[in-house]
Amino acid sequence: MTDEPAPDTRCSAKGCQRPAAYALLWRNPRIHTADRVKQWLACPEHRDTLSDFLARRDFPLRVEPLDRPGGPALGAR
Ligand SMILES: [Zn+2]
Repeated sequence: MTDEPAPDTRCSAKGCQRPAAYALLWRNPRIHTADRVKQWLACPEHRDTLSDFLARRDFPLRVEPLDRPGGPALGAR
């Protein structure tokens, strides 16, 4: 029994245990077909790190805020 969030809502950054606030939707055009989309989750701290990692590889990338019921509204980007 722990207080940690469920694994599927945790940041995808290596070693990070924080709850994710963003979803990074991306695809590797060399190995994925156009309708295949991978999803990473990121906490606010790692959103830029992870999106930069993907952007440097020229992967198509979309970042969307996760819905957090009861939380503050995240500003539109
Ligand atoms: Zn993180």
